[in-house]
Amino acid sequence: MGLDDCIFCKIIKGEIPSEKLYETEQVIAFKDISPASPHHYLIIPKIHKASLNEFDQEHKLILGEILLAAKEIAVKQGFAESGYRTVINTGKDGGQTVHHLHMHLLAGREHKWPPG
Ligand code: 5GP
Ligand code: ZN
Repeated sequence: MGLDDCIFCKIIKGEIPSEKLYETEQVIAFKDISPASPHHYLIIPKIHKASLNEFDQEHKLILGEILLAAKEIAVKQGFAESGYRTVINTGKDGGQTVHHLHMHLLAGREHKWPPG
């Protein structure tokens, strides 16, 4: 399964190396290659979906898993209490550059609002 030319599908298949820190049957998380914060992870579904626009009622559980993965990683990495930012960029105006849905998990510094 997955798209042959999708970077994140290649990471899932192990064809591109990544620093994985979390994995379940449906979801993996790995370090962002170009971290914007001291902690910067990407949490993705193993099924290929280009963006949040491709998700539906039938994907409720996997979307919930992605969110709960963020909390679990926050607890394990020790920044649950100090806090963190979770972000899903969608489409051009959202600033999405990789077209396989991913949630950013950022921590280790204070994040401003609104983002740029
Ligand atoms: P977007 O801008 O689509 O929300 O975020 C894409 C993220 O993927 C960026 O933060 C970028 O640094 C990260 N990224 C792009 N290519 C790779 C890669 O090959 N490996 C890893 N670990 N992260 C990547
Ligand atoms: Zn993909």
